[in-house]
Amino acid sequence: MNCVNHPDVDAPYQCHRCQSAICVDCETKTNGRSICPTCRAHIRQRTAERYEAETRNVNYGGGLFAGVVTAAAGAFLWSQLAVWIDSRLQVGAAVLGGAVGYAVMLGAGEKRGHSLQQIASMTALVGAIFAHLLIFLRTRGVAYAFPEYLVSLSVLDWLFLVLGVACAYWIPHPRSLA
Ligand SMILES: [Zn+2]
Ligand SMILES: [Zn+2]
Repeated sequence: MNCVNHPDVDAPYQCHRCQSAICVDCETKTNGRSICPTCRAHIRQRTAERYEAETRNVNYGGGLFAGVVTAAAGAFLWSQLAVWIDSRLQVGAAVLGGAVGYAVMLGAGEKRGHSLQQIASMTALVGAIFAHLLIFLRTRGVAYAFPEYLVSLSVLDWLFLVLGVACAYWIPHPRSLA
């Protein structure tokens, strides 16, 4: 079998998408599968169109608003629950981060993109720190100063905080670039 693009050249590969026989020079891998140049161009075109649709006409104000409301409500609920069951309930940071990520994405008009990722992760970070502050104030009292509160956060607290911020950052990431 010879290459679909080079009739004189032997074709040891077959395109996974269109089944054409392709030579060593024409073959490239996409997700570990052999793809011909024509199909590669098709896939690139489709990816570019999907990215365009995902990231065009973003409602940044709506995204920010939805994120802040979700972060505030989430921080309040998390702190209430944490004080009630007498635990820091660290996993709240991950749940809050995921919720904020989704809220920002939906609020922006089901859009994704780098700026939305930044808005979501920053909002989730502030929300999680706010929740810990609420828990601290409820359990230790207002008399304790802010630095004491920051020192009171354990490694586990920070670990889940980072996880929450990562969730918020990942959710509005363009799927076309995944
Ligand atoms: Zn092909
Ligand atoms: Zn070829």
